[in-house]
Amino acid sequence: MRRGATTSSSAGTETTIDTAPRIEGDPAPETEDEPILRTRGDPAPATGGESGPETGGEPARASRGESGPASGGESRPETGGEPAPPALPPPVTALLGELWAAGCAAYVVGGSLRDALLGRPAHDWDLATDARPERLLELHPEAMYENRFGTVVVRREGVAYEITTFRSDHDYADHRRPERVEFGRRIEDDLARRDFTVNAMAWGGAPAATPIPTSPAFVDPFGGRTDAYAGILRAVGEPRARFEEDALRMVRAVRLAATLGFTVEPATLAAIAANAELARHLSGERIAAELEKLLAAPRPSVGFRLMADTGLLDVVFPEISAQRGIVQGKIPGDDLLDHTLRSVDAAPRDRPVVRLAALVHDVGKPVTLADGHFRGHEIVGATIAGDLLRRLRMPRATIDRVTLLVRQHMFSYQPEWSDGAVRRFINRIGRHALEELFELREADNVGSGFFGPSPDIVELRGRVAEQLEAKVALDLRDLAVNGDDLIAELGLTPGRTVGALLDDLLEQVIADPESNDRPTLLLLAQAMLEPDR
Ligand code: ATP
Ligand code: MG
Repeated sequence: MRRGATTSSSAGTETTIDTAPRIEGDPAPETEDEPILRTRGDPAPATGGESGPETGGEPARASRGESGPASGGESRPETGGEPAPPALPPPVTALLGELWAAGCAAYVVGGSLRDALLGRPAHDWDLATDARPERLLELHPEAMYENRFGTVVVRREGVAYEITTFRSDHDYADHRRPERVEFGRRIEDDLARRDFTVNAMAWGGAPAATPIPTSPAFVDPFGGRTDAYAGILRAVGEPRARFEEDALRMVRAVRLAATLGFTVEPATLAAIAANAELARHLSGERIAAELEKLLAAPRPSVGFRLMADTGLLDVVFPEISAQRGIVQGKIPGDDLLDHTLRSVDAAPRDRPVVRLAALVHDVGKPVTLADGHFRGHEIVGATIAGDLLRRLRMPRATIDRVTLLVRQHMFSYQPEWSDGAVRRFINRIGRHALEELFELREADNVGSGFFGPSPDIVELRGRVAEQLEAKVALDLRDLAVNGDDLIAELGLTPGRTVGALLDDLLEQVIADPESNDRPTLLLLAQAMLEPDR
């Protein structure tokens, strides 16, 4: 983010601002230390705020979000007249009030307004205003200016609020981002560029528009509220044209249908089927951002099924699409795609990595199928999954975790395993991946028609927990000696011998935890060296 980069402005005319630099296809920076899947923080509480626009009008009597219907398909709560204002968190109410007081039009827009209306937990509140970025920076000198999007980001109580100047988008190139963005003066123009009717509503006011400030109200030119209450996802304007402009909207449609539990309106769905090929132009990053949200839906399969039905899956995730029609005889009538989608739904919703791993855990099966078996599919699958996730520019830490899970998901436990075998298993998987691997296996089992935890896994989990609690050495960091000790005590030079010795010592300690003390290990190391001396 950059601070203070301003755009040229000329009073009364539309102004062209910098558009997003072409990031499609640019290599993403290595992001080893990035949080897994860039999951968001807790949603902002949808508490009611009290203050209305200081310039007049009715106070924004914000009721709690629960007043709206919990999901689509329910009837709208208000019976006539101006509907109840949405539940806004106090910082949002305050920001609106400050903009109104400065004589600017200001509205709450986008997904957070939609969610507040539906009584769902809202997050990432977005505001739209007629104030230009430079004016916003005058009003909020501490704000950050994100020039790529013409957005000013204000932080309140540790939460970021995006304030974006009304804009309209023009000249879409390659079915992706607009080439040219213009600042606008009317909220209606800003809403018209948005994707779906439920995302194209605003609530707020324009105090400067008349001598007498208007009360804050809904602006809903496309019937977003009716669609929201009916649970319908409908493109703003002509759906084919909107998807031709930006193919990501098709992926957003299936993602929003799954997260909101909405149905996609028939003409919008038909336009996705007609335009699915255009998704080929999308960058990995933009698909990944939608995939992350889709995987957090109550049942991601809803979105993947819509993708499969419209042909979007073939274009965006051909590796998953290739699972269609492959029979594996687990649940009668199910093919491999059905199994995968059941597994994804069964993986814990608050475990994005496990859900992602469930999505790709069997991608190696179509290519390894021979004589009704999928030998080695977990090894081939880890490679295919890695390629898929790299294409999406996922953070490296996520790719490593997911490919490890795919590679290891076929482990088979035998009750006769010794404690040493359990410790070797922990060492092979890595202690931080164990819980995710068990969760993946459980999801895989549910996807195969087994319900309830499998007794084997319950037993292995218990035995693993025992070993972890015993605080015995399970990896190199737990050894009572390190490389420096071996070099100092045994007169070795740094290099491969030291590494190999440490590995051998660990193997010894995993078999016999009692041997993990410094003198014993040094003696052992000495003995291991003897034949070479
Ligand atoms: P979520 O609640 O999951 O964040 P959202 O609808 O808020 O869903 P965002 O990606 O946060 O999704 O986008 C915020 C708003 O910006 C949307 O509600 C919509 O009005 C608009 N928008 C986002 N992406 C597009 C797009 N590709 N084309 C048109 N409008 C878009
Ligand atoms: Mg949002």
